[in-house]
Amino acid sequence: MSFTLHGIAVSSGIAIGHAHLISHTSLEVAHYVLPKQLVAEEIARFDAALLATRNEFTSLRSNRPTHAAAEFDAFLELHQMILDDPLLSVAPRDMIASEYCNAEWALKTQTETLVAQFDEFEDAYLRERQTDVTQVAERLLKQLLGQPGHQPSPARHDVETILVAHDLSPADLIQFKPHQYAAFITDVGGATSHTAIVARGLNTPCVVGLHHARDLVREDDLLILDGEQGVLIVNPDKLILAEYKLRQSEWELERKKLKRLRTARANTLDGTVIELHANIEKPEDITEVKENGATGIGLFRSEFLFLNRDHLPDEEEQFEAYRAVAEGMDGQPVTIRTFDLGGDKQLNGTKRVANNPALGLRAIRFCLSEPQLFRTQMRALLRATHYGDVKILIPMLSGVSELNQTLQFIAATKQSLDDEGIPYDREVKLGGMIEIPAAALALSVFVKKLDFLSIGTNDLIQYTLAIDRTDEEVAHLYDPLHPAVLRLLAHIIGTSNRFNVPISVCGEMAGESAYTRLLLGFGLRQFSMFSAQVPNIKQRVLTTSLPQITSLTQKILRADDPLNIIDLLEKLNAA
Ligand code: PEP
Ligand code: MG
Repeated sequence: MSFTLHGIAVSSGIAIGHAHLISHTSLEVAHYVLPKQLVAEEIARFDAALLATRNEFTSLRSNRPTHAAAEFDAFLELHQMILDDPLLSVAPRDMIASEYCNAEWALKTQTETLVAQFDEFEDAYLRERQTDVTQVAERLLKQLLGQPGHQPSPARHDVETILVAHDLSPADLIQFKPHQYAAFITDVGGATSHTAIVARGLNTPCVVGLHHARDLVREDDLLILDGEQGVLIVNPDKLILAEYKLRQSEWELERKKLKRLRTARANTLDGTVIELHANIEKPEDITEVKENGATGIGLFRSEFLFLNRDHLPDEEEQFEAYRAVAEGMDGQPVTIRTFDLGGDKQLNGTKRVANNPALGLRAIRFCLSEPQLFRTQMRALLRATHYGDVKILIPMLSGVSELNQTLQFIAATKQSLDDEGIPYDREVKLGGMIEIPAAALALSVFVKKLDFLSIGTNDLIQYTLAIDRTDEEVAHLYDPLHPAVLRLLAHIIGTSNRFNVPISVCGEMAGESAYTRLLLGFGLRQFSMFSAQVPNIKQRVLTTSLPQITSLTQKILRADDPLNIIDLLEKLNAA
């Protein structure tokens, strides 16, 4: 029987293959009371399973595929931390000892307590981490039951195989990678789940949140997975299959063609040079930056060095990370943003800000309120400027007094390096992120005092439309094409160009080809995006003639009606 399921598309591409089902170890376990004399033995069984699970993580970390995204390590580290949480590693032992219950029962009870704690978090991201807790507990449970890992049978070599699971942890994905699955499908998970992020990093089509795929699909069923639309077609008829085979070969051809653009310069048809830079989170990401032909780093989100850890990186560790990127980019520009912590990115152990974290002590506000932390980072950054073309970018500036305070802070830090005879680039360029409407509207102060600007469209849209970007209830209102957003963008880009201050966009809009011509038409000449998006945007640039798009872009800018704007944008992109 043929049927179709819809889920959340998280990693694009089309896969056609036969289903391989992964059994789901639910935490349905036997409950029994032990005779007192067997309690020590049961505790030893639990300890052995715990040790085996720890070893499994250690081996996964040391054998991580070289092409794996930097996030892998962070995920595995997170799962190791969860495993070491006393509620998973100590409380079950105590429960076995005091209540004489079997190890599986004790583990299940304590896992539920831990999951309930995560459920209390207001923050959607932290709440979602309860999935990680369950995944770690399942891994431990499998050891107890004597069936470590998912132990997938290798993918068949004669046919493509698509892995179907109720849920997959990031660690599972790493294990499955060598088996060369054509795609991953899960019943649960959201777009921000770790599994989704890892699948994207593996460049493997993936759809999550399919609800009942694991129950409805049978082993070896023929599947089509459209990772762009989030559609799963089970046992398609001949016609549909033929159509998707065609789409798949077109998609693959397109990818191959795009790859060939790696070394091509991103010039428009009329010969204007456009810079396509990459956004990174960790030094390891620069391998992918080069593979995709980005010509610099437009945004290094340095705060990722600070997350998921109990001890913050000291000056030396930060310096080494920044220097590695500076040297690794062989003289190409590297823009490092000072840490944008606060808001939805909290340090371990920091009390969460009460009501409106996005409007609270975040980014530069947080930096200025924590001078010790800020000074450490600024020293490391300035020292790294000696090893490459490093620029410093300040996030979330709102007004002149904050800017002046920051400039004074940097001057004082430079002075301290001078006093110690430590070298740094005295001409280091300092830029500001324009992501608050107030900064966009009072831009003259920024263009006069800073060397370059970068527009954070993710936040600019959030703050312009008063839409919390982490709140799924209002996600449908998040609109890059809102006339207010477009006018702010055109104003920022136009003003910066008039003052000859280099301007880039480093928010998500820069990596979406639907907006490339619009931004070019507003006068943008520098984009920064996830590395994997660079070839696609380059292709759009290569097929654009600036003189041809100017009048349509201006028309879009004057339009008020959202439908009219969408219509005009389609025309612009079709030209
Ligand atoms: C942005 O706001 O667009 C941006 C690039 O910064 P972040 O997404 O890290 O807030
Ligand atoms: Mg931002």
